[in-house]
Amino acid sequence: MNKPEKVFPIAHIHYDDEIDNNGKVVVPDEVQDAIRTLIRWSGDDPNREGLLDTPARVGRAWREYCSGYADDPAAHLLRTFQEVGGYHELVLLKDIPFQSHCEHHMAPITGKASIAYMPTDRVVGISKLVRVLNGFAQRLQVQERLTAEVANCIWDNLKPHGVAVVIEATHGCMTGRGVKVHGSGMVTSKLIGCFLDDQSSRKEVMSLMGY
Ligand SMILES: [Zn+2]
Repeated sequence: MNKPEKVFPIAHIHYDDEIDNNGKVVVPDEVQDAIRTLIRWSGDDPNREGLLDTPARVGRAWREYCSGYADDPAAHLLRTFQEVGGYHELVLLKDIPFQSHCEHHMAPITGKASIAYMPTDRVVGISKLVRVLNGFAQRLQVQERLTAEVANCIWDNLKPHGVAVVIEATHGCMTGRGVKVHGSGMVTSKLIGCFLDDQSSRKEVMSLMGY
């Protein structure tokens, strides 16, 4: 507890984890201790055989769930291409599956995102949109902020005529605890530029996304 704390700034950094001989990330003792405490608090014995390796596994899993903190999503949009064949219509990547975790319960948020933009003169490799999504999803989130962050990142960096992001997800903190509601998805959307201002563009993108 009294050791100088390792500080991880929110963005623009990369984890510099120690790797063991088996190629696995070394999980610090204090992290494993915290997970043992949580297991005990949940009602189980962290020293029983089946749980012995769990603290290290959980630590590594969370490093991966939250790998977005080590990513700068905007950096994925730096390499752009001149449009091919004078294409001036919208670009849409539909139903991208993703997983995030809610910042209130650290419970999984599971769902799909549709991301569209109306290019000016530059386009980006389509896989980069997935990387932007994951860069923000692999953090502790609320769905509304995730939706806005993805849209704003594309808007600020690609400078297109418009951006539309729609996310539909179920929240583990609702299905597994509390009200225990199953099968209901939450939908959030962020529309910027022409998709916000122009009704026919908005109708077109929403219907192509299936809404
Ligand atoms: Zn929650």
